[in-house]
Parts: sequence; C-alpha cells; structure tokens
Amino acid sequence: MDRRQFFRGAAGAAAGMLVTDAGLRKRVAAAAQDGPVIDFHAHCAIPGVAEMMGRTTQMDSPTIIGPDRLRAMDELGIDIEVLSINPNLYQLDEGQAERVGRFQNEGIAEICAGYDGRFVGLATLALQFPELAIQQLEEGVNELGLRGGSIGTSVGSVHLGDPRFYPFWAKVEELDVPIWLHPVLIPDLQPWLEGNGMLGNAIGNEVAMAIAFGRLIFEGVMDRFPRLNIVTAHGGGYLPAYAPRTDYGCGTRPCGPTPERLPSDYIRDRFFYDSAVFTDEALRHLIAVSSTSQIVIGTDYPFSWTFPPRDPRLPRFTPVERILAAPGLSDADRAAMLGGNAARLLKLNV
Ligand SMILES: [Zn+2]
Repeated sequence: MDRRQFFRGAAGAAAGMLVTDAGLRKRVAAAAQDGPVIDFHAHCAIPGVAEMMGRTTQMDSPTIIGPDRLRAMDELGIDIEVLSINPNLYQLDEGQAERVGRFQNEGIAEICAGYDGRFVGLATLALQFPELAIQQLEEGVNELGLRGGSIGTSVGSVHLGDPRFYPFWAKVEELDVPIWLHPVLIPDLQPWLEGNGMLGNAIGNEVAMAIAFGRLIFEGVMDRFPRLNIVTAHGGGYLPAYAPRTDYGCGTRPCGPTPERLPSDYIRDRFFYDSAVFTDEALRHLIAVSSTSQIVIGTDYPFSWTFPPRDPRLPRFTPVERILAAPGLSDADRAAMLGGNAARLLKLNV
C-alpha cells in the first residue's frame, strides 16, 4: 500500500465515524498533496547488541527492522520513521559504552541506507560520559549520516541541567542537529509505581519528562544554549499540561536564579513535542501551549498505542488519523505536524 492509497484508506477507516464528514475528506486529500509523513517516535533494536551485553537478541521482536516494519508503516500511513533506541548505554562502563555505541549506531546507519529512504536515524549517546557522547554524536552525524542524537530524561541519578553536560549541549548547537528526549524511569520513583495500571509508563514516564523540562529551563540550559532543538516524547509529558504552575512558582515566591523568560515561554517555542497525547482535547491543549509548528507525529511503534485501542469506549484513531481528524486546524497546520516540522528539523530534502 503506498501513501496515497493509505490516505484514501484513512478516509475509509475514518468513515466508520465520519463518513459524512466532507470536511475530513477534504483535509485528507489536501494533506496527501504535501511531503512525506514522518514519525519521530519509532523504536528499533540492532541484532547483536543484546549479545554484546550478555543477552540474546529476540529476532521475532517488532523492534527488529524488516519487511513487517515496512508493512506496519504503510498501514499507519507513515512514509519515514526516525529510528532511535532508548538509552541502553547508560549502565555500561566507558569501554563497553564506546564499543556497543559504535556497533549500534553503525547498525542504525545501515538500516537507513538499506530501505530506500524509509528510515532516518538518531545516534545513541552514552551521556554518562559527556566527552564520549560528544564523539558519538559527531561520528554519527558526520561519518554515519545520522540526523541527530537521542538521550534519556536523566542519566543515572544526574539531571539534565547539570553543568557536566554543558559541553555536550554546546556540541549539539554547533552541529545544529535535533536531540530526541525519551523518558527513562527515575529509580527512586519506581516503588511508587508498582502494581496495577502500568503506572510506570502512564505516570512515571510523564513525571520524568516534566522533571527534565524543569531542570533544562530552571537550571539555565535553555538560556545558555538558545539554539537547541529538543524534540520530546509523549507530548512532553506532564509539564505542558500544567505549565502555568511553573510560571506562578517563581512569580510568587523566591526560587533562586530565574530563567530569562517565563517557563511557559520556553514550553511554547523552545521545545518540540510528539503528538502522542491520544485525544482531540489533549492535542488542542498541546497546540494552545505551544503551536502547530512545534509538533511532530510520534507513534511510539511498536508499543500498543501505535494502533487503535481495543477498548470500544476509546476513539479508534491511528496517530496520523488523529491529526487528520482533529478539529479546527488548517491544511498547513496538518501538513506541518504530519511531516513538515520534522523534515525541517532533520534537514531532509523532501
Ligand atoms: Zn517510546
């Protein structure tokens, strides 16, 4: 199924709810005239990496790239995936982190070269060793053709506002590449999130994102490095949902050196967000506190919410359909979120 067929299919799929919605059909048709649909939140694994860490690669895992991934992308209406790997180097010593990192980043680059432009990649970085992370980012971008780097919301017990990371942020600015920020669980929080409800994922990840935002803003990283392009998973987690409290915190009480602008100003125009927020209202709010120029599609493939939910009480949209069907947006807004913003960040000639 090619992309045009998908968009025709999407119109059909949405038809279950919206067959008489001429406006949706028009939006689908208009969006299909624009550039590629780019998914910024796509997980993968490189065969052999697990073995380097004493484990076994699960070759039947959907994180292994092959024909099944391409079929899934076609079904979801995704033209290009931005491949990243959740921080898996942070627990390694420096020698291991260098070896595994190189193998993994070469593996991502190989995939990007082998599938006719369907994938671009981000370098995995061992940020616990900032000098090594700098080297990995430089090699990834300059030698392997990767488009940026990916990091976690914290590095062991160290937050992202820590000055030890300043040289890394300086290199990111110099290379002018985006950094993908994906949640990693905060170890001390873990006992509170056990039990029913998958709270580690549903709450822990979003708290981790909020803390990372808070540290980057309040420790002065965003002021010190004004040209960073940080793209965040899960719609940025909890902080964009409750940004005014950070403004009123320092606006009403002494709170240490304050950032140059209101925290909500950074949330509006200094971060990028994936669209993984699930409902029209959540997307509307994310747009209200940022803008359509700051949002990219994130499917979180292959995790369960990539696909329409089984629970009949929930809206049955794929991530692309969610953007196509969201009310109150112009064709230009949709095109930007479907791929224009990502293409600009990744410097893709499309
Ligand atoms: Zn993810």
